[in-house]
Amino acid sequence: MQKNSNGTLAVVGLGFHELMSPLATNLLSSADVVAGYKRYIDEAKPYLNEKQEIFQTGMRHEIERVEYAVKQAVAGRRACIVCGGDPSIYGMASLAYELAATHKLATGNGVEITVAPSVTAAMAASARLGAPISEDVVLLSLSDQLTPWNVIEKRIDAVNVGDFVCALYNPASLTRKEQLPYTLKKFRERGNLVIGAVRNAFRDREELYIATIDDFALGFVDMLTLIIVGNTRTRLIDGKMVTPRGYKVNE
Ligand code: SAH
Repeated sequence: MQKNSNGTLAVVGLGFHELMSPLATNLLSSADVVAGYKRYIDEAKPYLNEKQEIFQTGMRHEIERVEYAVKQAVAGRRACIVCGGDPSIYGMASLAYELAATHKLATGNGVEITVAPSVTAAMAASARLGAPISEDVVLLSLSDQLTPWNVIEKRIDAVNVGDFVCALYNPASLTRKEQLPYTLKKFRERGNLVIGAVRNAFRDREELYIATIDDFALGFVDMLTLIIVGNTRTRLIDGKMVTPRGYKVNE
């Protein structure tokens, strides 16, 4: 017979410092074991205590971390997986469901999962840039590590068809530099759109940059940059990037 253990598994998003949700902080501080990538464990430190077990691994060890947390939860402990921003957006929430289901199939033992949402990078960046989203938006990751590039290309075309505001996650890395210029060239087909970029949003070394596609300096962009490309109605108002919703304000 299949059964769920008394343990719990929480997938918690750290948001961005003061933008973290109370549900997330409560789950973190009440966990018995906390698993995460080193940088996120460091960020979570204010909510952790010395009684908790910390399972921390480097980049690209996601399966190992999540599997460990699943096993701990099935064994009856309160396990918590931390990720940056929101756990369901390019985070660990889906992997937690997949691995918990695999574990249940193999052993008959399952666990209840709670996802604690927090603010995602696009929302944090939007708040810093002005009001660039304000209506329909596409969140698009330019990383082809888990999604084939030909699929990403189709999604870029779909953004153009819908004239969506587009938040670009994972725009570039040390080894991946081609995707962003390709994407901006495609978006240029709709016009010289306004672009906002935020590096290290809500962190100490936060930097903002607003330009148009033609002027945009790619050198600004690194792994911790979130880019928002406006739609054809997005413009600058008093130095802020704003997408009007369509209210008739000057009549
Ligand atoms: N789960 C996260 C996203 C992880 S994908 C979330 O919901 O925000 C990693 C990408 O998020 C980075 O490449 C970058 O585009 C964006 N990002 C993460 N932290 C950021 C920060 N402090 N400032 C700007 N962008 C950030």
